[in-house]
Amino acid sequence: MTTLHVKFPREWPGWTTKEYTLRSAHPSCSKEGTSFTVIVDSETNSDYSSDSPVFRASVVNSSNCQSGAVVALKFAFRGDLISYLEEEVEVYEVALRSLQAKTVPRCYGLYTGHREDGEPIACLVLEYWGECIDKPFHCLPLNVRMRILEQIGEIHRQGLIHGDFAERNVLELDGDIRIIDFDQTRPHDCQCRMDFRPGEAAPDEQDFGCSHLWKLCKSDMRIWGQPSIGEPPQGVLSLKVRYRLRSRSKDIQTYRLLQRDLQPSTTHSIPNSCSFPSAINDIH
Ligand SMILES: [Zn+2]
Repeated sequence: MTTLHVKFPREWPGWTTKEYTLRSAHPSCSKEGTSFTVIVDSETNSDYSSDSPVFRASVVNSSNCQSGAVVALKFAFRGDLISYLEEEVEVYEVALRSLQAKTVPRCYGLYTGHREDGEPIACLVLEYWGECIDKPFHCLPLNVRMRILEQIGEIHRQGLIHGDFAERNVLELDGDIRIIDFDQTRPHDCQCRMDFRPGEAAPDEQDFGCSHLWKLCKSDMRIWGQPSIGEPPQGVLSLKVRYRLRSRSKDIQTYRLLQRDLQPSTTHSIPNSCSFPSAINDIH
């Protein structure tokens, strides 16, 4: 049995509780006699009145996570919300286990306990991976859109449809992407060849092989046809058109070098229509 101690800061606008002690609720994190202590960041960005807030925290003592590591704590403060976290941890630990720390954040398990008033609570602990995308997908630089498509394609390859795919569920840190929020997934037999051919004419939906990815490419990401907002100059575009997801997917270092090389092309000013209201700039 693993125990999670969550400590809140002394200067805390949220509530008076200073600490929760929770216990592992999934077999994958039930090592006998281990404990895990995290301290919530006092500047964390979250809605304190929410029944499902997300807080950033630092690990100070753990047997299965490096001290100093930054994690995201996804809470359920009502009994009826706990089942969503139970479904989500199952997805992280089973269907997407091989994609942890590559396509989805590393998962440190689900922990359950009770509030001081007796209400059951739960906390899903995930590797912290920055903030969510803060503008519509089609306003992002092409290389970022392609990286997101590559990542969502990997999830399809594991036999899952995300079920709630949106900008708020895509995190970006140091130029790399992680996908989150897996409480609405559905089984999926993906027949996509995963060759998106950005900049070319939209392929036939039937020929593409996956209607979900086809719609994502066409309507949300707008990678086909005429250059869209955020498109690089022609010389850079021709380099990107040669960019093939499959061949690069295992080589993050090469991807980052490519991204750095392309940096000057991604500094176009973005019109106001490409900004979200600040209200949805939460971590999740
Ligand atoms: Zn698919």
